[in-house]
Amino acid sequence: MPIIGDWLRQQSGPARTSGQLPVGSMASGMSVTLPYVAVRGAQPGRTLWLHGQVHGDEINGMVAALRFARSLDPATLRGNVVVTPTGNPQALDARRKRNPYDELDLDQTYPGNAGGLVSERLAHALMAEIRGVADVLINLHTMNPLFDARPYTVYKVHPDSRVTEADVLAAMAPFHPHVACQQDVGGKGELPGNIAGALDYQCLAAGICAFMLELGSGSRFEADNIDVAETGFHTLAVQMGMLDATPARPARPAATSLRRVRRRGWITADEGGLFLPAARAGDLVPEGASIGDTLKLDASLTPVKPLSRDGVLIGLRSDPVVHTGERLAFVAWEWDTVSVP
Ligand SMILES: [Zn+2]
Repeated sequence: MPIIGDWLRQQSGPARTSGQLPVGSMASGMSVTLPYVAVRGAQPGRTLWLHGQVHGDEINGMVAALRFARSLDPATLRGNVVVTPTGNPQALDARRKRNPYDELDLDQTYPGNAGGLVSERLAHALMAEIRGVADVLINLHTMNPLFDARPYTVYKVHPDSRVTEADVLAAMAPFHPHVACQQDVGGKGELPGNIAGALDYQCLAAGICAFMLELGSGSRFEADNIDVAETGFHTLAVQMGMLDATPARPARPAATSLRRVRRRGWITADEGGLFLPAARAGDLVPEGASIGDTLKLDASLTPVKPLSRDGVLIGLRSDPVVHTGERLAFVAWEWDTVSVP
């Protein structure tokens, strides 16, 4: 029985609530729950759902979503805003990406399983609340703490969804992502694992417009990246007819075109040492240039192999300590420019 949707559908006026969705319990008896905040507007309208994290060490999105919820006045809202700050409370408490009790990647686990491992149960509990309630869902992420990145988006195209790519591009435009990466679900992707188990993909399957917003680095408070998200949530809510832009809170115009990336991949280290980057996250590095050098402990310096084609640095390693095979940069290799409808 969905808890949040039932509360939103009560026609008892503008209000705000918060609570915990029950999932299970620990050996000690401590409850395993999913916290939520819901804001019900004075008039009916659409429902914007902000999911703060699926990975437990990714913090900027939680902060942005919670601050946006605090900024809302239910009396001037049309429709509803729901924030689920974490989908992975045990990973959050442990300051790590994956749930320590089953080591699953939660964002490869949706729509979950009510009788499965704890990550699958957490996924199921969340999907049961979202389905039939959310109109637009933002799946908030960051890169891991070893990397810098400028805010960007990742999205999928679901062949059977009523949500089109144009719908998703329009929902991403308020965030001015420096790249909008279209992720291939079926083929050999840039990451191992079950990409179809991502929350945003399962939302598309359920007819909900959804994408991933990537907000910089994990395990940190990054004020600029949080501000991009908060401003974007406001602009998106105005775009969805849920809020009015006011002189005190104008809407930043959404992007009118996006750099759509269709192929990306990792550059990994050939040899260990200290990686000294020669560029910054977000830069376009031309064919033939190197992204930096490896300084070895015998004081020798080796350039990282030059790029065989132009690349845009989506994420760049900021922790210099690298071993052979470790990731140095996440790079966009093919892109075009699409106008946003
Ligand atoms: Zn993540």
